Amino acid sequence: MRIVAPAGGIGAARFLRGLLRALTERDGGDGVHEVTVIGNTADDITLFGLRVCPDLDTVMYTLGGGIHEEQGWGRTDETYSVKDELAAYGAEPQWFGLGDRDLATHVLRTQLLDSGYPLSAVTEALCARWRPGVTLLPMSDDRVETHVVIDDAAAPGGRRAVHFQEYWVRLHALPRAHSVVAVGAESATPGPGVLAAIADADVILVPPSNPVVSIGTVLSVPGIREAIVAAEAPVVGVSPIVGGAPVRGMADKLLRVVGVDTEAAAVAAHYGNELLDGWLVDDSDAGAVPLVEAIGIACRAVPLLMTDVDAAAAMAHAALDLAAGLTRRQAVT
Ligand code: GDP
Ligand code: CA
Repeated sequence: MRIVAPAGGIGAARFLRGLLRALTERDGGDGVHEVTVIGNTADDITLFGLRVCPDLDTVMYTLGGGIHEEQGWGRTDETYSVKDELAAYGAEPQWFGLGDRDLATHVLRTQLLDSGYPLSAVTEALCARWRPGVTLLPMSDDRVETHVVIDDAAAPGGRRAVHFQEYWVRLHALPRAHSVVAVGAESATPGPGVLAAIADADVILVPPSNPVVSIGTVLSVPGIREAIVAAEAPVVGVSPIVGGAPVRGMADKLLRVVGVDTEAAAVAAHYGNELLDGWLVDDSDAGAVPLVEAIGIACRAVPLLMTDVDAAAAMAHAALDLAAGLTRRQAVT
């Protein structure tokens, strides 16, 4: 079975780790499954000359056993000597947590990119160490960068566009946001292998990632959303919203900007019944099931809190079970 999943960072990585466990449980580990992950690269940023790809790294470290488990991003047993030394120079920015072990990834990535390799090849090279058990494809080798237009009294016109990381990490999503723009997306092309993987998929899973700045940016690369809509495989998504709130993070701030309520059913409607055949909501959102089914998307309520790998695996089993009972666009009339 070939499974394809667009992915952001923490939410996707934890779900994918559960998926790999679930697949092993289903087939006894005889390796007949192939998982291809289409990673979001619109969060990427250059800091101190180093190219940092937070979502690709979160997936790579989580599936490869190198993640800082409690934090959900960055390396386990991390130290911050380089960050402290840069701060001693007064060098900016100081708000991004660049750990020493993590830095090695960024140094090597930057060196390979500067040698002329595309990000897809560089990601493959980095994954040779981590062996994540999936094929991790950047959504594009072209630069796409999420910017958020925020209130800023000091800026001309009272507004300013900032890089997503500045809005999210430095400003904690506190300033009022007016729009989210994936800069460069319209002229980007899908990375090597992305469209073929979607076309050849037996199942497409949309993990509980941020619908706007993770899944939304992957889908904004021309051709990717269209390929998923055109795919023969059933598409099943998992709600990142539980009980009217993001389980962790501040996804509600960005949903508001795109006019979507912070509700499991509203996120399904935002993705739409062209894209989704099935949708999982949390048990506590069972009331959303008829609302989602009314728009032509098959829906089930199951526990959706990824408290550990077993819980994430149970979610993946539920997504695969729902997909198995669906044929493409069965539910759309
Ligand atoms: P990021 O790029 O690191 O922000 O990660 P993602 O975009 O992949 O995922 C972030 C989203 O994961 C958040 O908006 C949360 O709503 C969702 N999330 C995190 N933990 C859980 C969980 O345990 N269950 C569910 N259903 N969603 C989760
Ligand atoms: Ca991210």
